[in-house]
Amino acid sequence: MPAETNLSLTTPLADLPGVGPRRAEFLAELGVRNLGQLIAYLPTRHEREEAESAISELSAGAVGCARGEISATRVVKRGVTRARFEAVMIDETGRLDLVWFNALYMADRIHPGLRVRVQGKADRRGPGLRMTNPRLEVLDPRREEAASKDSRVRPVYSASERISSRQIEGIISRVLAPALTLIQDHLSPEYRAQRELPELFAAYRAMHAPASESEALAARRRLAYDELLLLQLGVQIKRAQRRERARATALKWTQTIDNKIRKRFPFALTEDQDGVVRDIISDLTRATPTNRLIQGDVGSGKTVVALYAMLMAVASKTQAAIMAPTEILADQHFASITKMLAGSEVRVELLTGAVKPAARALLLERLARGEIDLLVGTHALLTKGVRFSNLSVVIIDEQHRFGVHQRAALRSKGDDAAGADGRVLVPHVLVMTATPIPRTLALTLFGDLDVSTIRRLPPGRKAIATRVVQPAMRAEVYRFVRSRIDRGEQAYVVVPAIEGADDGLWVPGVGAAPRLRSVEETLKDLTESLLPGVRVGVMHGRLRQDERDKVMKQFREQQLDVLLSTTVIEVGVDVPNATVMVIEDAERFGLAQLHQLRGRVGRGSKSSACVLVAGAGAGGEEAQARLEALAKISDGFKLAERDLELRGFGEIMGLKQSGMPPFRVADLSKDLNLLTLASRDAAEMIGQDATLSGPSAKLLHKRLMKAHGQWLGLADVG
Ligand code: ADP
Ligand code: MG
Repeated sequence: MPAETNLSLTTPLADLPGVGPRRAEFLAELGVRNLGQLIAYLPTRHEREEAESAISELSAGAVGCARGEISATRVVKRGVTRARFEAVMIDETGRLDLVWFNALYMADRIHPGLRVRVQGKADRRGPGLRMTNPRLEVLDPRREEAASKDSRVRPVYSASERISSRQIEGIISRVLAPALTLIQDHLSPEYRAQRELPELFAAYRAMHAPASESEALAARRRLAYDELLLLQLGVQIKRAQRRERARATALKWTQTIDNKIRKRFPFALTEDQDGVVRDIISDLTRATPTNRLIQGDVGSGKTVVALYAMLMAVASKTQAAIMAPTEILADQHFASITKMLAGSEVRVELLTGAVKPAARALLLERLARGEIDLLVGTHALLTKGVRFSNLSVVIIDEQHRFGVHQRAALRSKGDDAAGADGRVLVPHVLVMTATPIPRTLALTLFGDLDVSTIRRLPPGRKAIATRVVQPAMRAEVYRFVRSRIDRGEQAYVVVPAIEGADDGLWVPGVGAAPRLRSVEETLKDLTESLLPGVRVGVMHGRLRQDERDKVMKQFREQQLDVLLSTTVIEVGVDVPNATVMVIEDAERFGLAQLHQLRGRVGRGSKSSACVLVAGAGAGGEEAQARLEALAKISDGFKLAERDLELRGFGEIMGLKQSGMPPFRVADLSKDLNLLTLASRDAAEMIGQDATLSGPSAKLLHKRLMKAHGQWLGLADVG
């Protein structure tokens, strides 16, 4: 055994006491190669382990723990799919029956002769005791530990088939004490004391070998704080860098300009809209490039706020652009903006993929000469050849539809040449989203954005009555739709697929999964049986642009009663006379998407309804929970939080693509307070030492670069 004093955090595993080459290999498969990585291999949770007793000392109704030998096993089948696994464990004092329900895999693991330890609640059964679904651990007879006399908290590690959590625990326990002496803290004692954070080495000790549950919790809090602090430092330093390297045009703002802009709006702004406008004015009148996220629920009135910013650009004799994720939406923005600007001198144009080459060439020429003030478009705005003469404001609508890279591309549409001060001139960027970003995420992934929020909807909106119904009620649902149409109102019917095709799922014991409702099939149902005589238009992603435009126009002008569509209408479509939405196979859609779809109705003064038809057989509990959440909750922000609880963070909003390393300890759905603290602390630190180059921040800086230097591109800091 090497002298412990020779250990360092980079000592390879095989040189550690008690780790042979085989175990070193198994640990390497888990990404653990040296002592430092071993200590950083944190348990995923902790488990209370009861004191062990002899079988005869277990008492009915209480949680107990005992060890012994398996003497018999059997599988008891009930029906085709249900089965239980039974085993008998014996020790010198008696016999304990064990049963696991629906756990046939246990039959492969457990056989007579094995030594095991079980923990669970014992119940009386006949003359003896029985444990149902106990926690079980197979003991290694060659190195069996002594029975634990006291209850204690044990770490549970993510293990593999080749190395168990217990084995990892054993290895760590042998090197923990000397390893802890090597751990340096990057936070000072005073700093920790103010925040009630344990010292770093103590936190590691308590994670691996906690004296109590509360000690483990405190340790977790310290390590989660560290992760969040490093991330906040990284994102905030990045943002400061970006600001240093670029400048934007400081736009003019006067009361006269304000009056002139507001005169264009057909309504007075709401308090929340006014609040955002104040943020915008304060941003755009500076030479620091704006990078602001404007979030407001579906229908909260983000467009006019965007228009305010664009008209500020025009008032300063510069150009503005708004980029929408779909042509439908770009068309709609163009229509509403031209309407509001009718009779003014502002030159507005539309650039989408549908613009013919000759017209496009002309448009681009005028754009480059500065003869267009305000350009509305789709991602066609990003294509080569689109050159502005002096672009100062860029609006990106419904930003969740665009990737990070597209945003960067638009941002770079400014003047690339660096000015006299060495800074590049870039436009102010405002990003609008109706998929509210939970505060935690806004702070982390979008830590370089300022956020403004429109919380309340414009006055006069009626709540959208939302109901979940079973497919058996379809006829009734469409009778209701018919009653609305008879009143001169319109309806959307949304289905998940364009053509009929099953989704290829074969569910064992059930047969083919139910087919997805398609546009094709539903059109037939609607015209032939459910809504005969009603004018139905069809909209989906495979229609040509001019066909789509035509249908949208007909629907808007009330030449159609029903718009049968896929989710292409999800974003932004605004037809106030449409008051009913039926969503077929609703469990197929995500919560945010359903909320977006629902937002197509309830846009006028009439009461609106949304009916979610749950597809036959599909879904499961999570889908059910999703639909129920939608029926109960109308606030998009609350829904987003619920969505987070249901789905977890990983799947949401490009977090994975961002390159951000996953958290090991922090959990954004639980650690909001800690994140807020870390964010404030990071701001304060950077305020005092912008690049963390001071001597007291040395270790912190090193750890920051290791964690986030690469993906954030912080390479040249400090
Ligand atoms: P979104 O935030 O979903 O993009 P829009 O900008 O499309 O919302 O606005 C939704 C509807 O609300 C539009 O019909 C718009 O004219 C209307 N609206 C916006 N602001 C107000 C307001 N302050 N008062 C009344 N109606 C408003
Ligand atoms: Mg919008």
